[in-house]
Amino acid sequence: MSIFRLTAILVLASFVSSSPAFAADKTLRAGIAAVDVTPQQFPISVNGGMRDVEAERAADPLHARCLVLDDGQARIAIVVCDSCMIPRELLDEAKKKASQATGIPTDRMLISATHCHSAPTLSGVFQSEPNQRYIAVLTEMIASGIKQASDNLVPARIGWGTASVPDQVFNRRWLVKAGVVLTDPFGGTTDRVKMNPGYSANNDKPSGPTDPEVCFVSVQTKDGKPLAFLANYSLHYVGGVPPLSVSGDYFSEFAKQMASRLGVEDTKGFLGVMSNGTSGNINNVDYSQASPPRRQPLEKIRIVASAVADACYKSYQTVEHRDFVPIRMREAEVELGVRLPGDEDVARAKKLLEEAGPGPYTKIEHIYARETLWMAQYPKTVKAKLQAIRLGELGIASSPCETFVETGLALKKESPLKPTFTIELANGYSGYLPTSEHHALGGYETWRARSSYLSADAEPKVRSTLLALLREVAAE
Ligand SMILES: [Zn+2]
Repeated sequence: MSIFRLTAILVLASFVSSSPAFAADKTLRAGIAAVDVTPQQFPISVNGGMRDVEAERAADPLHARCLVLDDGQARIAIVVCDSCMIPRELLDEAKKKASQATGIPTDRMLISATHCHSAPTLSGVFQSEPNQRYIAVLTEMIASGIKQASDNLVPARIGWGTASVPDQVFNRRWLVKAGVVLTDPFGGTTDRVKMNPGYSANNDKPSGPTDPEVCFVSVQTKDGKPLAFLANYSLHYVGGVPPLSVSGDYFSEFAKQMASRLGVEDTKGFLGVMSNGTSGNINNVDYSQASPPRRQPLEKIRIVASAVADACYKSYQTVEHRDFVPIRMREAEVELGVRLPGDEDVARAKKLLEEAGPGPYTKIEHIYARETLWMAQYPKTVKAKLQAIRLGELGIASSPCETFVETGLALKKESPLKPTFTIELANGYSGYLPTSEHHALGGYETWRARSSYLSADAEPKVRSTLLALLREVAAE
């Protein structure tokens, strides 16, 4: 080969590697959609407490917030919905419809509930039952949101960061002082922990840590305009919505406030999202304070959203947005044991309910007796979908449970991807996921009901599977 010819090839090679055609393979694209899922018919059942509430109006609109990302190899959808929890059947159906419309495989979709306690019931729990019409509407709306976001793909840049907001999270499970006897709804006296105990002389100390970290992913258009901001904080919810109202709680207020922090003028062209981290045992109330300040409806929601948005915005100033990062996603299904009631439990529950007469019930032993009869119909095991996503060096795990903060902290520590965060109540609803240590301490989150039924070995299984998935996507 002549020198001339070799030079020509080298020149051609360097031309090819920098040509637009080659660069197109390394283009990151993002698409957004926020679909209004506010119920159109009231009254509607709202779950989140042990008694049902019927909402008569909306304090603010509810949304399914959809982000689709595409690196040229993989296209994934992340959806966060203003709901308390969403059963797997609904989400599987929504994914199937969205997949048919977009070609995105169903195992490349993460759909979660924010866990606001002020949204329509979607899964039968305690004394709340879902409205079938709303289930059908929400299924369609989620699928349509993914389709819209997928249709809206534009070349994008991506970055991420972390911030710390330690003063808005509190561990809500308190150890009681030695000698204090706690009674559970099944007549037992072995609990050592009380959930939301109020300010009391019986309180010893919180039974575990909090996670003050807010992780976020920022997506911009190629010319640097904010397109999406997906945050994650381990806070159950805030509450304090106007009576008999549905509301997106601080999750939707954060989306609004983040848009204003980022100077977004066209809010339709921007998607703010707050996803729930691992907050099964974390809330926003400091039980070491004798008299916390009284607040107007929505006031606390605005305070918390504002604190988190301020911290995110400060950290955002230092974020370097990149034109391209690889996107990887893996999904696995695990089989988890169910704590089924025994014959004696069922007989006791039936006797209690016979004595109490028809509901609705106000006494906790009757409410749990009713749950025991529901649980008697459960299978011995259930399947749970677990996922890991990699965006460059950032990791996202997902769990279908009200996951404890200890699990999230362990995943953050052990994941090879830094930072890593977990989106809980994703891809289904399997109740609380206390660690084995917390099962031993007892308390509300461990009491057997449709809201807490997984066996005590479920948490280590979920945690180790998520860690294995994170390692897999990190190595790809
Ligand atoms: Zn909850």
